[in-house]
Amino acid sequence: MGDNKKNSSAEKFATKLIHFGGEIDPSTGAASVPLYQASTFHHFSLADPPRYDYTRSGNPTRQALEDYIAFLEGGVEGFAFASGMAAISTAFLLLSSGDHVIVTEDVYGGTYRLLTTILNRLNIESTFVDMTDLEKVVAAKKPNTKAVFMETPSNPTLKITDIKAVTAWAEANGLITMLDNTFMTPYLQRPIELGVDIVLHSATKFLSGHSDLLAGLAVARTEDLAQRLKHLQNSLGNVLGVQDSWLLMRGIKTLKARMDQAEKSARRLADWLSKHPSVVKVYYPGLPNHPRREIHEQQSLGYGAVVSFDVGSGQAARRLLQKAKIPLVAVSLGAVESILSYPALMSHAAMPREVRMERGISDGLLRFSVGLEDIEDIIKDLEQALQ
Ligand SMILES: *Cc1c(COP(=O)(O)O)cnc(C)c1O
Repeated sequence: MGDNKKNSSAEKFATKLIHFGGEIDPSTGAASVPLYQASTFHHFSLADPPRYDYTRSGNPTRQALEDYIAFLEGGVEGFAFASGMAAISTAFLLLSSGDHVIVTEDVYGGTYRLLTTILNRLNIESTFVDMTDLEKVVAAKKPNTKAVFMETPSNPTLKITDIKAVTAWAEANGLITMLDNTFMTPYLQRPIELGVDIVLHSATKFLSGHSDLLAGLAVARTEDLAQRLKHLQNSLGNVLGVQDSWLLMRGIKTLKARMDQAEKSARRLADWLSKHPSVVKVYYPGLPNHPRREIHEQQSLGYGAVVSFDVGSGQAARRLLQKAKIPLVAVSLGAVESILSYPALMSHAAMPREVRMERGISDGLLRFSVGLEDIEDIIKDLEQALQ
């Protein structure tokens, strides 16, 4: 893993976040990774090519970020991309024409769009299944199935997939497993430890944490997959820029502090919403009645900071969106400010209505990403907006 020799994997996560190998610049002692704002690198000797030669293939600032995420996820190598979708589409291009992939049914809308409008044209087939039922995953396998793509908790109804059960089955059948870990982050869930081959992130969300940059990350469990991802990243050229690599590292350092605070508030909010008469249903893995909560607890260290809830109708949802004052009304999540989004019109607008309804993404469903505001203020605001 890069030059990251001083770190010990026995350290606690909070310490790893701060002492990840890039916290002191070895040449000057500077307290952050230098910004190597260069596209190309001088060959001092033709006999001995430089470690970095061109920024698409590698850049020391981006490399520090890539080592950082590999270290946090416990993989062999990390890769930084221009967006979460750039990371996800690159991972899918490990597949070839004629291959088939099994995908979590209520997958992120952009992943659904990629699979159903672009990869299908390249003859990469996908089947969407309810992964809360392993039997359905097993039944979806075809002779040409090559991979399984998970997202747990899923978006936006927070359905739980048993990661170990799927990876054990996939490994026995020679399938590559991929998991979108955006909602949990490596602080709360480390899929590689559960056998997942490739972990993916929209680092635009909790990892960067401030709604100020777009980025994607991938981490490979094995050298072979790392080499193949490296080849794709360099060939496709969808890399993360130097400035954004630096900014993302800055954000990741406070991941635990932000997550701890936001999750504490999210638990309180989910509890409050579940007792509110205008709320029909609340989805949050920390609620006692959340389906498969015990599986989530076995594979994760927390419940995260995203709470979805159904106010019964599209009309009620629109009214709440107009009346709420504290949250940003927007797509996206995982930021210092609370973000209230309306999946039917925002993140899942790309999904046909009947498919959306089938997946529980009703017209009254809202998704609240809890930020760092005082939770009592958030509750007061929602109380008036729900009236
Ligand atoms: C936002 C998001 C993505 C896409 O990431 P971008 O950075 O917007 O490209 C993928 N998966 C999940 C779960 C997301 O929330």
